[in-house]
Amino acid sequence: MKTQTRVVVIGGGIAGCSTLYHLTQEGWSDVVLVERDELTSGTTWHSAAQVTNFGMTQTMVGLKSHSIALYKELSEDPDYPVNYHHGDGGIRLANTDAQMDGYRHFASIARGMGVDFEVIDAAECARRHPLISTENLIGGLWDPLDGDIDPGQLCQALARRARKAGAEIYRHTPVTGLTQHGDDSWTVHTDKGDIACEIVVNACGYRVNEVGAMMGVHHPVMSMEHQYFLTEPIAAIAEAGHRMPLLRCPISDFYCRQEKQGLLLGFYEQDCRTWGMDGIDPHFVNALCPDDLDRVTDVLEGAFARMPALMEAGIHSVVNGPITYTIDGAPLVGPIPGKRNAFCIIGLRAGLGEGGGHGWMLAQQIVRGEACYDSWGIDPRRFGPHSNVELTALKAIEDYQNEFRFHFPNEHRPAGRMARTTPLTPVLAAEGAEFHVVNGWERAEYFKPSPDFAVTHGFRFDESFDVVAAEVAAVQNAVGLSEVNGFNRFEITGADAQGFLDRMICGRLPRRPARVGLVYLLNQDGMLKSEATLANIPASSRGPDRIWYGSAAASELHDMDWLLQHRRADEDVQIRSLTNDQTILVLAGPKSRAVLSAVSRGDWSAEGFSWLSLRECFIGIAPATVMGVSFSGELAYEIHVPNASLYAAYSALRAAGVDHGMRLFGSAAAEAMRLEKGYLHWKSDILTEFDPYETGLARFVDLEKGDFIGRDALQARKAAGPARSLVTLEVEGTLAPAHPGASVMLPGDVVGTVTSGGWGHRVGKNLAYAFVRPDQGAPGTGLLVDIIGKMTPARVIPSGPYDPANTRVKA
Ligand SMILES: Cc1cc2nc3c(=O)[nH]c(=O)nc-3n(C[C@H](O)[C@H](O)[C@H](O)COP(=O)(O)OP(=O)(O)OC[C@H]3O[C@@H](n4cnc5c(N)ncnc54)[C@H](O)[C@@H]3O)c2cc1C
Repeated sequence: MKTQTRVVVIGGGIAGCSTLYHLTQEGWSDVVLVERDELTSGTTWHSAAQVTNFGMTQTMVGLKSHSIALYKELSEDPDYPVNYHHGDGGIRLANTDAQMDGYRHFASIARGMGVDFEVIDAAECARRHPLISTENLIGGLWDPLDGDIDPGQLCQALARRARKAGAEIYRHTPVTGLTQHGDDSWTVHTDKGDIACEIVVNACGYRVNEVGAMMGVHHPVMSMEHQYFLTEPIAAIAEAGHRMPLLRCPISDFYCRQEKQGLLLGFYEQDCRTWGMDGIDPHFVNALCPDDLDRVTDVLEGAFARMPALMEAGIHSVVNGPITYTIDGAPLVGPIPGKRNAFCIIGLRAGLGEGGGHGWMLAQQIVRGEACYDSWGIDPRRFGPHSNVELTALKAIEDYQNEFRFHFPNEHRPAGRMARTTPLTPVLAAEGAEFHVVNGWERAEYFKPSPDFAVTHGFRFDESFDVVAAEVAAVQNAVGLSEVNGFNRFEITGADAQGFLDRMICGRLPRRPARVGLVYLLNQDGMLKSEATLANIPASSRGPDRIWYGSAAASELHDMDWLLQHRRADEDVQIRSLTNDQTILVLAGPKSRAVLSAVSRGDWSAEGFSWLSLRECFIGIAPATVMGVSFSGELAYEIHVPNASLYAAYSALRAAGVDHGMRLFGSAAAEAMRLEKGYLHWKSDILTEFDPYETGLARFVDLEKGDFIGRDALQARKAAGPARSLVTLEVEGTLAPAHPGASVMLPGDVVGTVTSGGWGHRVGKNLAYAFVRPDQGAPGTGLLVDIIGKMTPARVIPSGPYDPANTRVKA
């Protein structure tokens, strides 16, 4: 066994084997995989191993396409052909119009990745899958490339190719401990001796947290018991003369594929069980949980009704095994939060279908620093410190129970709610707030006009339209108050703080005291990594000179990792998170100055406190830091308050607002208003796939200022010209917004992808942002957007159609 290598991948299921193989494809051959038993002896060996192309984001469709192409190639390798039923096709069924809208949207997303899904009616579903009844069925989504693969052969094939490229695999070698050294390298302790390495990868399936504990980390991954059975041969299958396509049924929570001349039927029962929460028997290897078909009776009845032929078929065998879930259903593939040189590929609940793609994305991140697609949707840092074992279990159960019922836009399910709140949460609830969740934080989306007000979730404009319009009108004409909790805030101090930040950002640092500026951080490839508001706070009785770094709530762990990773050992820079201690109240609208003046001493006139100023003050008796910034396009103030004083500040503002027609507003109104101003959202419009020029942020770049991360790469990109350009679209129609991921078309040709969309209530337009081919980016250009299956005419318009001269924010 080697005692020194570059990467040690721990775990020999599909996740580990795919990562190892792809590391060698990236050119790293001095890599090792250690497996405590035989390859595939965790979950992989007994997987139903269906391989689908379906995804709800372009990244997911793209990485699954990679799996399919790779598996096809492996199946055609004459030296070691893997048994792969490629292209049997598959149908996701639907019994509601809203689900059908969803499928149309997912087909629009897939088209942009070169994948052709088809939305078909009930009769066509039955024609393609002759065993199903059309009772209570509207139609479905057809994925032509669905199939299934032999999981053992697949892993052996990947291992074989990795070995050929120089990788080594040590079976029956359990990892027993991990030690990290001062230079961030690792020693991996095994029962066969130690291996020193630069980088470790946790690919341990349901044992993820045994290895996590060895590095002092808890991963938000929970195992669930999951069952399928195999039937005896079914005559109708042989009679059909073709293989049965895969089925996924959100109506009765089962899936199905052909196995020999019978069927494999898997269940997502409501009466489901977590597994291994209090520890896993070390001898659970190549093992299954006891069968428990009683638990799935309800699901089984639905499956029998959908496929009557099942009633005649005998059960050949039952499989019940652990399958891993995360908080939002997507896996954790990327850097481990708070650690250096440590990655994971865990929480895979569809690891056979996705594993080829996830290993590919992870190897790129390890070797190149970034994957070809923006990987935020699978980034392990997307969950904050609230994601403990209890919350993970609740969300895993909820997700399992809804396996095939995708989330609708703005749908936030009830399990594990109130994980992160502020003193205002119950106050806003009493005011009628409808909350949504951002990185665990409960944030008001809008305020219900009556206690029994509810929306019908779907892909079209819903009942909240008029409610949001009224909140926007209040902000536009009078004044609105909103809580923006969970906003990420780091306090950066030290003699080298300015120099450090100057190196991290691509533009000019706000250096004047008591001033605020918007800045962008790039990766080494010159692509957009983060967006931050930097505020220079002069020394005062509240502290020394300091810089506040504010960024999106979701970026908490991501941005901290990125900053710490680039702080040099000899730099005097301290970074402290205030995210859990401070909350923002946004006061916005033409009368916001009057309200602020009523509760806070000092000169708040346009001359006394100009746009982008900062002041430490009091709101009533609450200490606060006020910034003159606006995300709405109206005169506005961000009021940063310690949580202990939040209620005092809120009460003072509410009382002063009475005379000025103040109304509470939520994030839905803020979202609508920012679209009218051309303002961007991190990880909606600000992605690692695009540079600042492509994203319309050239004014935030200063290539002449000296070195910064990504400068050389950005300069080269600038010389080459943009591959895509972010534009604002005015979309025709009032039926539905353009949803993120939707394809932008010219007849027969995909020319772009929507990143954000919604109604601009002040301009009275259906607006969207999209990255399009630069030759289609000029204002006035006519395009089509595939919105839930309708080719909807759209026109490129100048960014920020509301108050383009920006007079209102500076009023
Ligand atoms: C019943 C069932 C049906 C499924 N059907 C499908 C399907 O149709 N399609 C699909 O895509 N997915 C399906 N899945 C999910 C899929 O099987 C899993 O996502 C996938 O197998 C997970 O692979 P993995 O490599 O992450 O984990 P595992 O296969 O569990 O591999 C982890 C490996 O790590 C090793 N390990 C653990 N601890 C250590 C240690 N300390 N030292 C060294 N090695 C260690 C283990 O021995 C194990 O071999 C199904 C799952 C189940 C249970």
